[in-house]
Amino acid sequence: MNPDCISIEHYYPTLPIMQRKYDRLARKDYFTGSSAADFDAWREMARNRLKQLLGMELMEPCPLCPQILEETPLPGGILRQKVLLQTEPDTYMPVYILIPDHRDGHSRVFLCPPGHQGAGKYSVAGLGEIPAVARAIDFYNYDYGLQLAQHGHIALCPDCRGFGERRDPDKQTDKTDDFLTGTCYQLAHMAEPLGLTVIGMLVWDLQRLIDYVEQRGEWSMDTLSCLGFSGGGMQTLWLCALDDRVKLAVISGYLYGYKDSLLTLCGNCSCNYVPQLWRHYDMGDIASLIAPRPLVVQSCRGDHLNGPRGLQNVLEQMDIVRRAYDLYGASDRIVHDVCEGEHRFHSEHIFEAMDTVLKNATSAP
Ligand SMILES: [Zn+2]
Repeated sequence: MNPDCISIEHYYPTLPIMQRKYDRLARKDYFTGSSAADFDAWREMARNRLKQLLGMELMEPCPLCPQILEETPLPGGILRQKVLLQTEPDTYMPVYILIPDHRDGHSRVFLCPPGHQGAGKYSVAGLGEIPAVARAIDFYNYDYGLQLAQHGHIALCPDCRGFGERRDPDKQTDKTDDFLTGTCYQLAHMAEPLGLTVIGMLVWDLQRLIDYVEQRGEWSMDTLSCLGFSGGGMQTLWLCALDDRVKLAVISGYLYGYKDSLLTLCGNCSCNYVPQLWRHYDMGDIASLIAPRPLVVQSCRGDHLNGPRGLQNVLEQMDIVRRAYDLYGASDRIVHDVCEGEHRFHSEHIFEAMDTVLKNATSAP
């Protein structure tokens, strides 16, 4: 008993009626056709609607004005460049680009967007000399950009808006918590009343990063890939759903049904929430827009973000995605890598899974 307040014996929460409203209102525009041609038509409509919901028409094109700010040789023959790009007028995105010298015919170009709790690009690019970053890497296996570079791939690891060097004023301090986390909440408050969304801004910036790869002209666009964990998985999902330039998608720790994972668990970060989205689509519908491009989805059985029904909430969404791949005769271009344990990126099978979906895509008739 807390002497400072009173104990409530019976609560009157809003959650139950919201769950019922979800059942009545949600997912009104899922795919109902029966052929790949039907799906192509649905995809175009769905993409247009999603771009509208994200407020993409309010984003402002501008020259990238790339500047290389630093070059650091790392052990293992990897060069780390720090590049600054302008993604909207006077809005800048710092990116670590890891360029291994031991590249071969299998080397690809990966965008590696960051999730939460890793200080943006610092964990993903493996800056373990920073103690808080070292702990995040250890806890989440967070340095997937560096791991890709160690496997011979080029890894572009950006700060997404609100993280690392892109934190908005509320979190521009040297406190560990502020350094590791981001300002998604503040971004959502600035964006949504104007008709913009956090995820819309993040996708826009990643699309500008693709423009940069194209403009730089040193690496094959046919190998363009995106891999992200958690909030980085969210960005990977949305980018690949909306932009065909990405040829391989690897989504870790972010694929589940909205009702369990973002309504029943309604305390997730603001960047997950897009006004009106649930009326139209569930997450599997969005992921199905990636079909028939090679896709690896990684889920952890004990990930609390899967919601109260656990992995079942993931498998239902994977079924939606698989139905789209089946229409294209491309069911072997998806691997669902289910790992044990809590919310964490797993490297054990991911490289093999990527090889499998890529091999099946190239050997297709
Ligand atoms: Zn967030």
